[in-house]
Amino acid sequence: MSDAIEVTDLHKSYGDHHAVRGVDLHVAEGEILAFLGPNGAGKTTTIEILEGFRDRTSGNVRVLGEDPQDAPLPWRERIGIVLQESEPVPELTAAEAVRMQAGYYQNPRDPDKTLELVGLSDSADHRTRKLSGGQKRRLDLALALVGNPSLVFLDEPTTGFDPSARRESWGMIEALRHLGSTVLLTTHYMDEAEQLADRIVVIAAGQIVAEGTAEELAASVNAMTRITWQPSPDDPRPPGRFGWSPDEHGGAMIETNDVLMTLHALTSWATELAIDLPKLNVARPSLEDVYLLLTTETNEGGGS
Ligand code: ATP
Repeated sequence: MSDAIEVTDLHKSYGDHHAVRGVDLHVAEGEILAFLGPNGAGKTTTIEILEGFRDRTSGNVRVLGEDPQDAPLPWRERIGIVLQESEPVPELTAAEAVRMQAGYYQNPRDPDKTLELVGLSDSADHRTRKLSGGQKRRLDLALALVGNPSLVFLDEPTTGFDPSARRESWGMIEALRHLGSTVLLTTHYMDEAEQLADRIVVIAAGQIVAEGTAEELAASVNAMTRITWQPSPDDPRPPGRFGWSPDEHGGAMIETNDVLMTLHALTSWATELAIDLPKLNVARPSLEDVYLLLTTETNEGGGS
């Protein structure tokens, strides 16, 4: 599979401020990649360079085989961009807005099918100004998809959504996978990245600090699994060899990378003494824990 996005040693400075510092990024065709990072990390700068809206200071960039800085018009047609906020013409209906947008492309997707794809068929005749926040985001996605793009940039697609609207949007984004589109997604929601992305790239202070699947990121920071339980007051304390400590809820906690062996030892000990391990729970590190570890380290060591 070839790469839809190839970036090598990308740098961008704003005056004295070195905002992007040697970024390498490869996104395969058909891949959904989540690009995460704290505020000011350099996500927007990098993405706008990929979209051709911002010039770089140095480095090599190829997006769908072209340099975005001087790519021809047909290249732009192969890219769909969903911004965090957009204002479609308020007097148009959703269907009219999508049809009008389709008119700008050589090889558009069928507008009605596009509305169906984003779950907006029922509101197709509603004026865009009357659409709810969630419906507007669907329309944004329809407007980006109707040109039949090979590559879609989604900028924080569910910011401000309630939990059920977020889940619905995830379904829509999953639908892009079936269309074979490459997707570069920025988000501040770790569960969203974990749910949708094939791979996650984390940027902090202008540099890529980690990339991989959620599991690979967790392994890279040695984030440990927590085994917790709530001992009854009369139960004997577990032996020190378990390396346990009291947790914040008055229970007992073991942090380990060797979950199977630790659980085996703990449950054998409990079985021998015929005691229960009430509320026994095994919690893998969340992507949020991992992300905080990755970005805190970098920000603490960083500077401009
Ligand atoms: P956020 O999550 O807040 O959108 P980000 O990761 O997208 O952050 P960028 O917007 O790329 O970060 O900004 C990276 C750094 O470059 C920040 O320190 C920002 O203040 C600075 N910066 C961005 N655009 C400009 C500009 N046009 N002129 C000067 N500095 C800028």
